[in-house]
Amino acid sequence: MYDVLVVGAGPSGSKTAQLCALMGLKVLLIERNKKVGVPVQCTGLFSHRIFELSGVSNKPLLNVVDKARFYSPNSQFLELKSRKPAYVFDRKQFDLELFGFAKKAGAEAKVGTSFLEYREKPGYLEVETSSGTFETKLLIGADGPNSSVAKAANIEVPQDLIVGYQETLHGDFNPDTVELWFGKGTAPEFFGWVVPISRDTARVGIGASKSAQAYFRKFAEKRLGTPLEKGTIEGGIIRRGLIKRSATERVMLVGDAACQVKPYSGGGVVYGLIGAKIVSNACFLSVKSGDFSEAFLTRHYDRQWKSQLSSGIRKGLLIDWLAHKSPDWTLNFGAAVSKKFKFLLESMDMDLI
Ligand SMILES: Cc1cc2nc3c(=O)[nH]c(=O)nc-3n(C[C@H](O)[C@H](O)[C@H](O)COP(=O)(O)OP(=O)(O)OC[C@H]3O[C@@H](n4cnc5c(N)ncnc54)[C@H](O)[C@@H]3O)c2cc1C
Repeated sequence: MYDVLVVGAGPSGSKTAQLCALMGLKVLLIERNKKVGVPVQCTGLFSHRIFELSGVSNKPLLNVVDKARFYSPNSQFLELKSRKPAYVFDRKQFDLELFGFAKKAGAEAKVGTSFLEYREKPGYLEVETSSGTFETKLLIGADGPNSSVAKAANIEVPQDLIVGYQETLHGDFNPDTVELWFGKGTAPEFFGWVVPISRDTARVGIGASKSAQAYFRKFAEKRLGTPLEKGTIEGGIIRRGLIKRSATERVMLVGDAACQVKPYSGGGVVYGLIGAKIVSNACFLSVKSGDFSEAFLTRHYDRQWKSQLSSGIRKGLLIDWLAHKSPDWTLNFGAAVSKKFKFLLESMDMDLI
């Protein structure tokens, strides 16, 4: 009998498993892929909070950036210099380091093992996976934006989906500057991004609810010129919004599964690691008190993480609405006016918390 069974060895799941194991809980971490960290579905751009929250070393760090250029539809840009730098990581190595921490802390890990369903039994859950059936007191869904655990637990998730399509490309880039390109012709519901790894290599991507690859080609050709040689493809789904509830009896969701994502940028690693800290604490309290009810888990998890992250999510939804519901001419105008408020914008926290 496990105290906690965590589904998904992304950053949120590995961190949850690590922290639960460090608190003395008996943990099983399962991951459907045979290898952790692949396929990469991320740009790997994280705020200054990443080192403290994740505990990772400098090894997976590829670049440090401290400027962002916001391009309006008329290709004018506003450049902001951040007070604190942001970090560009090798996401595969980042995930592998976190997975290593979970195992080192004592969590048992099974890769190539998919969560299938669970059944409620008196005093525990019976979890069926592709590698057999396991018994656990608590089940944590850290299984990403299309969470099977959320479906099995009948937890409703927000339906705003964006497809992120990205390729690692060669060109001429400013190594300390991230670019964000806005406009109906570039990305009607999101933006195009250029995140440099070095002077000649960058992660170039776009978010769109449909035809993401077509928008990407157009954007990359505009930014880098034609003809474009195909780079390494890294893409995935971004789910946005504030989930109504992330806990039910004996089950909690964390990370992308709980929509702990900045809606304006799609960034979810920092929020997911904050979620992992709170959910592992809730697991500890629940196992120690023997209370696995929805009311207890809502009080110790759902309300706790929302008190830290819901205002950031709401602000992110507002920024997203302003940037994408306005016609292009207001964005051009807004970008010109914003130059006067550079000092205010430069003091903003990229995590909105
Ligand atoms: C193109 C793109 C770019 C992005 N760029 C950034 C960025 O720069 N910065 C940032 O902070 N965020 C970024 N994100 C978002 C970021 O990738 C996610 O927020 C982050 O990966 C969430 O971590 P997680 O651990 O919650 O989920 P995931 O990383 O999705 O991990 C979930 C894990 O669960 C496993 N799994 C799924 N189903 C099952 C199952 N049934 N059984 C067992 N295992 C299962 C999966 O294989 C996966 O390993 C980006 C997303 C996209 C799509």
